[in-house]
Amino acid sequence: MPSLGGETFPVLDPVTNEPYTRCAAGQSADVDRAVGAARRAFAEGPWPRLKARERSRILYRIAEGIEAADARLAELEAYDTGLPITQARGQAHRAAENFRFFADMIVAGHEDAFQVGEDQVNHVIRKPIGVAGLITPWNTPFMLESWKLAPALASGCTVVLKPAEWSPLSASLLPEIMAEAGVPAGVFNVVHGIGEEAGAALVDHPRVPLISFTGETTTGRIIAENAAKHLKALSMELGGKSPCVVFADADLDAAVDAAVFQIFSLNGERCTAGSRLLVERPVYDQVVARVAERARNVRIGLPGDPDTELGALIHPEHYARVREYIEIGQREGARLVAGGDRPQGLPEGNFLNATVFADVKPTDRIFQEEIFGPVLCVTPFDTDDEAVELANATAYGLAAYIWTNNLSRANTLAREIESGMLWINSQNVRDLRTPFGGVKASGIGREGGRHSIDFYSESHIVHTAL
Ligand code: NAD
Repeated sequence: MPSLGGETFPVLDPVTNEPYTRCAAGQSADVDRAVGAARRAFAEGPWPRLKARERSRILYRIAEGIEAADARLAELEAYDTGLPITQARGQAHRAAENFRFFADMIVAGHEDAFQVGEDQVNHVIRKPIGVAGLITPWNTPFMLESWKLAPALASGCTVVLKPAEWSPLSASLLPEIMAEAGVPAGVFNVVHGIGEEAGAALVDHPRVPLISFTGETTTGRIIAENAAKHLKALSMELGGKSPCVVFADADLDAAVDAAVFQIFSLNGERCTAGSRLLVERPVYDQVVARVAERARNVRIGLPGDPDTELGALIHPEHYARVREYIEIGQREGARLVAGGDRPQGLPEGNFLNATVFADVKPTDRIFQEEIFGPVLCVTPFDTDDEAVELANATAYGLAAYIWTNNLSRANTLAREIESGMLWINSQNVRDLRTPFGGVKASGIGREGGRHSIDFYSESHIVHTAL
């Protein structure tokens, strides 16, 4: 469907880079209309006034609708983003779990009450804030949309979602799923479009009091500036350059498995990827050799092929950027030990062999900057202090990973490493109750569990004289 003014933009197939459809390029008039519908549904409709149990039932039905669309969703996601189909298949389940989790949470939720002496009681009421503006990226797009939609809707907000322009397909399943689940008209709205147009209009809309954004740090800065004049509440899930620190005493099989999975699954387009592998000197050569060997065996192929482990990167612009980083790495003198080139025998699209650079210096751009592709940078260290210094040596602070059999050392490092989240001898296992988010240039605020509910609602304190 085109925008109100008929504007559209082409969407490319990452396997061929040929346009396969055109998507509505929403403009400020489209955003205004969607916000108007969401505002009316919030001010006049039942959604914010439903009992938690009633909203929760509808959220459960949304989860069922998503799981029923599993196969279709995986196909769309793999086609649109270039993600291997086997990895796209897990996304519906994760998205459905997000809805179930927040459905349960609002039913179990409770607020505080305070007795003040004998003649006063104070109690807290939690109120949904209003129309939530949700702006999402193209990596695992549907799952990340659900990560914002579920708590926003659970809290009683109405929403306007602006999905990423490079991956609009899967979001187009949502209106039907929402309607069939019984979400009242106007509660859920989606406006497709270019970030600088539709996204910027949502950020600038005076009737949208909060913006939840996931995307690049540079975009986050622009959004924060534009939102400042309205004093909007902001949640910012931004970029990362996360360190994976491997000590000589670690279970090296597990550490190497994790390092390889972390950077080469989801096409390396994963915000929490351990893209910098920091290895203690005594096992450095061994670990470099092992990850390089594993990288050379990663199966690059068509996204729809169930044997594919690494598909096509999302878009030719992103592909060019990742390849430019490979050239930069070589110019900077890092040692290319695997990949770096395009695999043979595949179509013209955005295919890249799994790439490993060794001997990467902390001053190198490939050490400092988020590449967001299947490119691993390996750097040696000699002492615990140096490991911490290297881990903290970038602008980012999203995730970190430590592999060692010395848990006391791991916990000391865990306190010193600057990251919002840290895993010890583990990777990306995450309970939905835990806070998710980054420090430094990786974000502002936390989502997940009660942190999400806190963000989408306002606590209102009522003082009563008895
Ligand atoms: P992006 O910043 O280019 O785009 C994200 C969204 O912002 C898109 O919907 C885009 O249209 C919109 N946008 C762009 N300019 C805008 C503007 N001026 N105003 C309003 N909206 C605008 O990010 P991307 O390339 O889609 O995603 C990849 C990035 O996302 C990486 O940096 C990755 O690390 C990050 N990411 C972070 C997390 C996290 O939880 N921290 C999760 C996933 C991805």
